[in-house]
Amino acid sequence: MRIALVGDKTYPERWLPLLRGRLPGDEVIVADGHCADDVDVALVGTLQGEELVGARSLKLVQCLWMGVDDLLARVVLPDAAPLARMVDPSMVAAMTEMVVSAVLDHHRHLYAYRTQQREQRWAYVPQRRAAERRVAILGMGALGRAAAGALRAFGFGVSGWSRSPRSVPGVAMHCGDDGGHAAAAGADFLVCLLPLTDRTSGVVNAALLARLSAGAGFANFARGAHVIDEALLGALDSGQVVHAWLDAFAVEPLPPEHRYWNHPSVTVTPHMAARTVPATAIDVAIDNIERVRRGEPPLHLVDQRAGY
Ligand code: NDP
Repeated sequence: MRIALVGDKTYPERWLPLLRGRLPGDEVIVADGHCADDVDVALVGTLQGEELVGARSLKLVQCLWMGVDDLLARVVLPDAAPLARMVDPSMVAAMTEMVVSAVLDHHRHLYAYRTQQREQRWAYVPQRRAAERRVAILGMGALGRAAAGALRAFGFGVSGWSRSPRSVPGVAMHCGDDGGHAAAAGADFLVCLLPLTDRTSGVVNAALLARLSAGAGFANFARGAHVIDEALLGALDSGQVVHAWLDAFAVEPLPPEHRYWNHPSVTVTPHMAARTVPATAIDVAIDNIERVRRGEPPLHLVDQRAGY
């Protein structure tokens, strides 16, 4: 088979040796702009729009990222080739670490103690048990379910929101358009792990944040456009949300003048929650390539009509 790395941020210096080592009988190339018409599998990073036009032999478009919102918004995809996203267990574990870190930071008031240390102030914040807290997770897919399992192991209550009705052991699940508000009602912490689609853009708005328990924590580890920034800043300024852990932003890198940078109740990270690591993502890519070779359907297919 002919396999091509296509687009920006495909890091050929890392992917090519891994792919050539694992696929000695195949030809692995870096596409020079457009993907040629005799390429069987395109491993795609950030595309501009028309790189895959005319690639008539494609049997699989394997995205190297977990989120495909940018790809679906900008890129002309071949009709015949399925689109798969990257669901690497190591990335799921990395995201779970981020969710647990933020929830524990909030639960044990570490964000507040960091401020107290700067002020050399020795004072206890009343402590609560994990079982007295509930974390609401927007998006109960690969990432949301793993985070829920880890939080349950600490003893936290968990509520979740999915598009379709789902049953997740130990989690109070809600679905449908009103499900986000139901999941968030009275929660002590809100985590956004949704894909960005027409229906999830701007879901973290003033009305949703008002449903949370006063003094809740909020983490957005999905996409910046999920959050109405003015609503979040209002909730932070009023204390409705006591601290926000933000990894994704409407404009990235976050512009120097943005209020998030210097807001005392915001922790900014540079979209690092779960980055693609070729050393582990290679297993997922190879598995899908071998499935295509055997004529089997690839894993982690994107439903392009749903947008994720
Ligand atoms: P999945 O596709 O596995 O899961 C998505 C979940 O969101 C599903 O439970 C789905 O519902 C739910 N959902 C989708 N649309 C709606 C809606 N309209 N209303 C309610 N629920 C909805 O995605 P992943 O868990 O793998 O990833 C989620 C997102 O995380 C990615 O799309 C990406 O944007 C982001 N991400 C961010 C990273 C970072 O470093 N910051 C790294 C990796 C991913 P259902 O179960 O019914 O389908």
